[in-house]
Amino acid sequence: GEGLPRPEQTRVIVVANQKGGVGKTTTTVNLAASLALHGGRVLVIDLDPQGNASTALGIDHHAEVPSIYDVLVESRPLSEVVQPVVDVEGLFCAPATIDLAGAEIELVSLVARESRLQRAIQAYEQPLDYVLIDCPPSLGLLTVNALVAGQEVLIPIQCEYYALEGLGQLLRNVDLVRGHLNPTLHVSTILLTMYDGRTRLASQVADEVRNHFGDEVLRTSIPRSVRISEAPSYGQTVLTYDPGSSGALSYLEAAREIALKGVGVSYDTTHAHIGA
Ligand code: ADP
Ligand code: MG
Repeated sequence: GEGLPRPEQTRVIVVANQKGGVGKTTTTVNLAASLALHGGRVLVIDLDPQGNASTALGIDHHAEVPSIYDVLVESRPLSEVVQPVVDVEGLFCAPATIDLAGAEIELVSLVARESRLQRAIQAYEQPLDYVLIDCPPSLGLLTVNALVAGQEVLIPIQCEYYALEGLGQLLRNVDLVRGHLNPTLHVSTILLTMYDGRTRLASQVADEVRNHFGDEVLRTSIPRSVRISEAPSYGQTVLTYDPGSSGALSYLEAAREIALKGVGVSYDTTHAHIGA
């Protein structure tokens, strides 16, 4: 998996879906680790007050740690809160602490409240190939900050009943932000998560999602895997926790697809559906 093409400019990818439990955080950290293992320099921004992405990356995020809250609310430079991820070269994280829960309210009265994250990323001077932003399960000001800061939206979809329900609201928000604040924003990637190819339901939902979104849906889907769900409790991604597992291989493959799509190289389908 070494030597994938690196983007000419930093790709800022917003991982969003206002539904909880669909695999946003899991996808953010494992894709980020995969892109780093493929040779990229990658920053994860944890924008969920729960701080699950920070935990999964083994990043200290107790209340005193400088965090993305300080960046958004106190205008602290992003470089002062970014920490390296141990064990994965080229991977970094701006952690979330619990005070981020108050930021939705505190941001309301601040100048340029929708574009504070965008400004912070633009002022960050270290070279980066990818920024992945893990959003909270809501469409409030934190998610709006992510949508204003990014060029791309990645929507993880869990293959279950009602998978598409509620997505209309997210897509309308993407359109609104594109129309008013960020003309480059688009939904670039849909990723099917927790896919169980043995069930009829999963394949029906997958077909429905592919009919609806077409080429944005990655050929690689992420299988339901115990190894993926175990890794965070060790402060690791599945890429270091169990590098040979189907979950690790599928995230590496999804990362490959994303990297190749970004430079306009068509994807070799022979590797698709690993583990599914
Ligand atoms: P979100 O960030 O959208 O709320 P998470 O990424 O936290 O969702 O995932 C929700 C739960 O599902 C977590 O417990 C996570 O470990 C588990 N999970 C996510 N993806 C997988 C997968 N592919 N296989 C098994 N469990 C998964
Ligand atoms: Mg999450």
